[in-house]
Amino acid sequence: MKYVDEFRDAGLARDVAAAIAAAADPARAYRFMEFCGGHTHAISRHGIEDMLPANTRMIHGPGCPVCVLPAGRIDMAIALAARPEVTLCVYGDLMRVPGSKGRSLQRAKAEGLDIRMVYSTVDAIRIAETEPAREVVFFAIGFETTTPPTAIAIRLAAKKSLANFTVFCNHVLTPAAIQNILDSPDLRELGRVDIDGFIGPAHVSAVIGARPYEFFAEEFGKPVVIAGFEPLDVLQAILMLIRQVNDGRHVVENQYARAVTRDGNTRAKAEVAEMFEPRKSFEWRGLGLVPYSGLRLKPAYAFFDAEHRFDMEELHAADNPACECGAILRGVKRPVDCKLFGKACTPETPMGSCMVSSEGACAAHWTYGRFRDRAIRRAS
Ligand code: SF4
Repeated sequence: MKYVDEFRDAGLARDVAAAIAAAADPARAYRFMEFCGGHTHAISRHGIEDMLPANTRMIHGPGCPVCVLPAGRIDMAIALAARPEVTLCVYGDLMRVPGSKGRSLQRAKAEGLDIRMVYSTVDAIRIAETEPAREVVFFAIGFETTTPPTAIAIRLAAKKSLANFTVFCNHVLTPAAIQNILDSPDLRELGRVDIDGFIGPAHVSAVIGARPYEFFAEEFGKPVVIAGFEPLDVLQAILMLIRQVNDGRHVVENQYARAVTRDGNTRAKAEVAEMFEPRKSFEWRGLGLVPYSGLRLKPAYAFFDAEHRFDMEELHAADNPACECGAILRGVKRPVDCKLFGKACTPETPMGSCMVSSEGACAAHWTYGRFRDRAIRRAS
């Protein structure tokens, strides 16, 4: 398959791994954060950590949109769906994300609330068209990749004069989260994790382009390599990062040039800029309140804003105290550091959001990485 098979060539992967081993300086350690959940999944699925030298470690970042959605926003969605006139439309991977007190959208649906799974924003529009007596709310989540489809849905609803369609906006911004991680006291002051560079997200960068990362590379002195999701993409990005570190460089490089340009998708960005504006702060699971990291609809589009139309109360809730998702999302702990991992918490019984989505660090490690742990234990 074009753009897939050639990026999964085992012989080439071994060649790149050998180049990484040759480039890595045995006298130092390399710690790179893959921001995006898609990369976390790819690294676990393709056993990429097994191909790296012992002194090169990958740290899983907070780039899984489901994982970073805080419990309070789930509680808000459940409260909204409890209104008798509301039909809440959500993507499937949100259904089991834990809210407070063990609640979830799946449980709320089982209790009788009108919560429906959709595959696209257009599905929600169709429901609003065919059921005009219902107030149809689309639960919009995701990074810069999924914001343009939400903008298009709003434009479509306006064109069709749909008075019963709104959006519960939870879209978040990648650059603000990376900056927050680099500013995080437990990374900067306690020195628990020293990140040497970032693998930049693939899909997000196809929309926003490479330019927004130039600030971090310059300001924090950290190299960024934007990479595709196939194993050869990730391996090549790691090699590029190691070479930058060795050379003392910290610039943005674009390994995923087949999809990402410096300026990104200008049409999609213009559509988003027309309808959305940054919130002063937005809560992330694991990161807390992050300044200017979330989007809301501009006043001109308030008619389509569920928080405005239903006067939604802002809710905040603490996570399960035993769950280490917060530390994992900040890159200071690994899934196996959580005492619930693989015991009380599995993909069938998720206690935290990192176990819900296949892109979550805990779910990826449960599905693929635990076999690697066993092999390492057997070998030692
Ligand atoms: S294993 Fe479960 S409880 Fe532990 S950090 Fe991961 S998601 Fe949270």
